[in-house]
Amino acid sequence: MSPTRRRLVGGLDLGGTKIQAVVLDGRRNVVAGARHPTPREGGPQDVIDALAATLADACEQAGIDVRDLAGVGIGSPGAIDARRGVVTGARNLPGEGAPIKMVAGLRALTGTDAYIENDVTVGVRAEYELGAARRSKSLLGVWWGTGVGGGIVLNGKTWEGRGAAAELGHVVVKIGGARCTCGRNGCLEAYAGRGAMEIRARELHERGRKTDLFKIMEKRGRTRLQSGIWARALDHGDELATELIDRAVKALGAGVGSAVNLLDVETVVIGGGLGTRLGEPYVERIREAMQPHLFVDERPPDVRAAALGDPGGAIGAALLVPKAGA
Ligand SMILES: [Zn+2]
Repeated sequence: MSPTRRRLVGGLDLGGTKIQAVVLDGRRNVVAGARHPTPREGGPQDVIDALAATLADACEQAGIDVRDLAGVGIGSPGAIDARRGVVTGARNLPGEGAPIKMVAGLRALTGTDAYIENDVTVGVRAEYELGAARRSKSLLGVWWGTGVGGGIVLNGKTWEGRGAAAELGHVVVKIGGARCTCGRNGCLEAYAGRGAMEIRARELHERGRKTDLFKIMEKRGRTRLQSGIWARALDHGDELATELIDRAVKALGAGVGSAVNLLDVETVVIGGGLGTRLGEPYVERIREAMQPHLFVDERPPDVRAAALGDPGGAIGAALLVPKAGA
């Protein structure tokens, strides 16, 4: 075995609907991947079992045993205690936010060292190291999905503040504005989060506004307005979907533009479920919506679509495994 082949690391991205696993070689190339659904029922142990099974599947594709990995990184939603390896408050997972001892649980099942970090943080880190911002020193990642997550890299270092930095979704874009899921008012997420947009769409639909959003949802056997459903409705020129997405883009322009005024980063990367699904045309629209809010408007940052796609989160999680000798 060559030295680069010998040092393989695993990465796991734990989402509300799916778990993505990757195996990276010593040159940080993806050599194998696997995807399993996230368990809908049970408790913390079921989540850990599913993570281990997805990782084992990816290792099998790579022709190795899980024990051959130099380590595995996990990107998880919820509040992360990286030192203890525990996740709490991940309300989209079985157990309704109960503490999940992920690092200890995964280590017990796989016999390999495990590391954990916030899912958005690792996804943004991957774009910085290997993706759309790999030539930049500073980066703001905008993860547009159910909520609006953020990640900040300054001079090559992830800025975590006191542990709660980059909560871009809760930057205020309208004083006294729409109610946010966090209980406050006027947050960016209250306008641009897919969860908030769905609530708004349901309200307006119940009050008689016409839309195909819920018809498309039912046809696909879904219970939530996932990104693909919004994309489909937009393609068909659905009036309500268009109106709500326009409102989201406008709010993103204000929120991201303000964040750029504060940080003056070289690059803004738009990712997340909805950002990735809607892609370049909407990245361009966000770029345009930011422009009137930029204080130094003759020198806007590069605004780019995330380049690593769906496995980006798992790739970023794999980067959590310390290099040999480090
Ligand atoms: Zn909020």
